[in-house]
Amino acid sequence: MCVLCGASLRDKSDRFLDCCSRFFPCLSDPAQRFALFLRVALVVLHFICLGILFIFDKDLIEKTKQQPWYTAIYLSLFVATLAQYFLTSNSSPGYVLDAMRVVNETDALRRTSMNSKQPASRKNGSVAITVDRNQMGRNPVESNAASWTKLVMDMYPPGTSVRTWTCSYCDVVQPPRAKHCYDCNKCVLQFDHHCVWLGTCIGQGNHFRFWWYICEETALCLWTAIFYISYLKSNISKAWWVDVIMILLLAALFVSIVFLVLLLLFHSYLIMTNQTTYELVRRRRIPYLRGIPERVYPFSKGVCRNLYNFCFARSIFYKMERLPSAQELEEKSRPYTCLDALTCRCCC
Ligand SMILES: [Zn+2]
Ligand SMILES: [Zn+2]
Repeated sequence: MCVLCGASLRDKSDRFLDCCSRFFPCLSDPAQRFALFLRVALVVLHFICLGILFIFDKDLIEKTKQQPWYTAIYLSLFVATLAQYFLTSNSSPGYVLDAMRVVNETDALRRTSMNSKQPASRKNGSVAITVDRNQMGRNPVESNAASWTKLVMDMYPPGTSVRTWTCSYCDVVQPPRAKHCYDCNKCVLQFDHHCVWLGTCIGQGNHFRFWWYICEETALCLWTAIFYISYLKSNISKAWWVDVIMILLLAALFVSIVFLVLLLLFHSYLIMTNQTTYELVRRRRIPYLRGIPERVYPFSKGVCRNLYNFCFARSIFYKMERLPSAQELEEKSRPYTCLDALTCRCCC
């Protein structure tokens, strides 16, 4: 009997999922379904924490009436955090294939402008640019792929094999710091990690947004925890089960705050040293980082410039960094002296 009930329930759930998949094709993929479930869970959790506070905390409601600006700032932070969450989760981490497309288009434009300088025929005032296939090169796609490969291979030391850095899944040559993400099934520039909560990769394109999201989430959790503590400390009469709910939510908030503060500090350290989580964790497995001493950050340009690049030098173009030469690495590994501290060597 139980087996029959279980089978019919499974049939019903399968039929429901089929129906959902028909209306929302993205739900047919279990990974996307799980990512959507986590997003909904996170938003619901935010509204539960906020709702319970405004339902039971009479002091907060009184305070809102007397000082509406105070609650308005808190609610603005709440909205901004959720907006930042969705902005980050829907942002591109910077896919290698997209970068290759940009390079190809730029290269094609450059070639076209070079050819336009050649004699062009004029008919009824319009300019007809004649493209000589022999001068353009063989197949344009082939020449574009070659230009991308050349551009990327110039970032590696001479003699590096193209095959070593060709992703077997995307069939594209990876620039330094890029990695294939098995969840997104794409190669990501300056790959940091795949965030399950955001349902996207964190890479060169969205690391800045990710840092801001952690920052806003930490501030929101801290402020909410302060509201919960002041409610529990107040002398107003309340039911025991309300206290239990409040204590449980406060405990969950406390765990979240510890996790978020550590994450914020960790990513701030990565930004200041121009590293990624992947590079830090898998340093010994990445061929070009294997022989470099632990305390040397090969891509760091000094704390100040790393921070400036992270905050302001983000352009619409994909940025790729070449591997430092042996001489540059030697310079970076030179021990710090008192003179270095005085001349701010870490900042230049
Ligand atoms: Zn790949
Ligand atoms: Zn990913």
